[in-house]
Amino acid sequence: MSLPIYLIGARGCGKTTVGHLLSKTLGYAFHDTDHHLQTSLQCTIAQIVAEEGWESFRTKESDSLVAVTADSSVVATGGGIILRPENCQFMRDNGRVFWLSVEPDELAKRLDAEPENEQRPTLTGRPITEEMSDILKVRSPLYSSTAHHIIDATLPPQEVVDNILQVLSQQRA
Ligand code: ADP
Ligand code: MG
Repeated sequence: MSLPIYLIGARGCGKTTVGHLLSKTLGYAFHDTDHHLQTSLQCTIAQIVAEEGWESFRTKESDSLVAVTADSSVVATGGGIILRPENCQFMRDNGRVFWLSVEPDELAKRLDAEPENEQRPTLTGRPITEEMSDILKVRSPLYSSTAHHIIDATLPPQEVVDNILQVLSQQRA
C-alpha cells in the first residue's frame, strides 16, 4: 500500500520530527502543509494571520493539504487541520491518518523549550502552557474521530515510527 500517510496532532506532538524519520524509512517523500503554504505564498503563517485573519489561513491550509497529497508520501499537517470537516474527510478518503497523541503538559514543555521556532501566534495571546490544555479539550475529539490510528507520541521518535510501521505492516498482511 502506498497511500499517503497523514500525521495529525497538536503543535509540538512531533509531526515534523516523526514525519521525516518515517518518510526516510519508507523511502517516501515528506511534505509539511505549513511549510508548503509558506513557501508557495512566500510569507510566514504569522503574516497571513495578521494580514488576512485565521479563516483565510485555514482556507490556504486546505489548499496546501490537497496540493501536497500524493501516493508514497508522508504528510505532516498543521495542528488545526481538523477544524475543517472537509479536511478530515479528505484525509480519511485519500490515505491513512495517524494521530500523534501527547498530553498537554508535555506539549507545552516541548514548545517552551524551542520558543524561537514558533512561527504561529498563539490562538488567544495567552502563554502556550495555559492555552494548550484548553485547545486539546476542543481538538482531541476531532483528532480522535479523524484518525484511523492513535499513536502514543510521548515515546521517543524512533519508537513512534516503529509503532506506525507496525500498524502499516498489519494492514498490508
Ligand atoms: P510538530 O511538527 O508536531 O509541531 P515537531 O516535530 O516540530 O512537532 O516537534 C516539536 C518539538 O518536540 C521539537 O523540539 C522536537 O525535537 C520535539 N519532539 C518531537 N517528537 C518528540 C518525541 N517523541 N519525544 C520528545 N521530543 C520530541
Ligand atoms: Mg511541524
